[in-house]
Amino acid sequence: MKKSIATICMALLILVLSTGIALARNGKLENFSGNNGGGGGAGVASLPYEELSAVEKDALTYMVEEEKVARDVYNFLYETWGIPVFANIANAEQRHMDAIISLLDKYGLDNPVTNLDAGLFVNQELQTLYTNLIVAGQVDEEEALLVGATIEDVDIFDLIHELTVVDNEDITRVFENLLKGSENHLRAFCSLLAMYGYDPYEASDFLTQTEIDEILAAPQTNGRKGSRNPGVAASQDRLPQGNRMLDADGDGVCDFLQQ
Ligand code: ZN
Ligand code: ZN
Repeated sequence: MKKSIATICMALLILVLSTGIALARNGKLENFSGNNGGGGGAGVASLPYEELSAVEKDALTYMVEEEKVARDVYNFLYETWGIPVFANIANAEQRHMDAIISLLDKYGLDNPVTNLDAGLFVNQELQTLYTNLIVAGQVDEEEALLVGATIEDVDIFDLIHELTVVDNEDITRVFENLLKGSENHLRAFCSLLAMYGYDPYEASDFLTQTEIDEILAAPQTNGRKGSRNPGVAASQDRLPQGNRMLDADGDGVCDFLQQ
């Protein structure tokens, strides 16, 4: 994991300092095994308390901080570019963090990000990753959206892996919900890339292109029990003509997107 994160960071840095071509297409991000999962859902407290394996313990502790990376990067990118999708998905990432924190609490584990300000992390690999993502996302709007897609790509990749190694029912439930949310987010960023006329997000060393294409072809879900999200509703400002509505965070409320 450490080696993998360092590799991601290096790839991101190389990208930013060199060409500025699409973030996710560069960098040889080999040997990324993923050591994290996600969270997300009501009802977890009612599921049985089961003995935690070392892998599960590490996954929860690591993942809450990785969700914080996503949340903090998206908040930063919203402040930088004003694209509403970043604010909406940052809110979803907060819910992901909260879901994992509920599991940390349930199992009596420390929350490593308690009282940490935005952009600060205990895990130094994640600290470096955050910094490099921020640098990449400041290049232009296209790079910012590609940073978003990359975060979700890694997140989905990790969650798929985690779901093969955890077995506690509550953790599995949370990870499955986070997986749905992350797929929604990936679709949101890729939709925006297309809408802005930017290059599409392409597979690098996490999900395969086939996996990405399958996710992009699927409809948004509400992240709970897999039911379909009708995907229309909402009330927000700044919606010029030509925008399309989209429920990026899967909460059943469409996000109005900046042209
Ligand atoms: Zn998330
Ligand atoms: Zn996400």
